[in-house]
Amino acid sequence: MVDLALLTGLAGGLKTAVDIGKTIKEINDLTVIRSKVIEMQDIILGAQSSAMAAQTQLFELIQENSELKAKVAAVDDWKATAARYQLRDYGEGTFAYELKEDAANGEPPHKLCPVCFENGKRSLLQFHGKTASKQHLYKCLSCGGDFYLGTIAEINWPSRPNRRV
Ligand SMILES: [Zn+2]
Repeated sequence: MVDLALLTGLAGGLKTAVDIGKTIKEINDLTVIRSKVIEMQDIILGAQSSAMAAQTQLFELIQENSELKAKVAAVDDWKATAARYQLRDYGEGTFAYELKEDAANGEPPHKLCPVCFENGKRSLLQFHGKTASKQHLYKCLSCGGDFYLGTIAEINWPSRPNRRV
């Protein structure tokens, strides 16, 4: 934030210096003129210092503005990316984000990690096979999460021959 008191002081100081300059013309005493010139120099130096401080603040504001614009652009980019996906329940409360068909833009169907998605990051889930209970195991290589998607089927263990004790 630019310090408005700094700018007001700067303008006031320069006006005072100009006023002193106008009065010098009417003074005949060399000692008084020297004293007024020294006073003017002090005021101008003070104004110069305030101008430099204001310039520094302005530079900081420009830099902050640039950083904020970059953040807004990143949020806008993520919103556009996120809009291409929808949360899908694969059964029994197992969720992942899935690419919408109408937003595929030539990409093959895929799923995104729900944890990374909530953190504003697009991370594809990699298929790692089926479990004994017929769920599909997906891994997120970004956060390391394992996701078991689908309903849990009853496991039919292979029957073992009866043993006599
Ligand atoms: Zn993840």
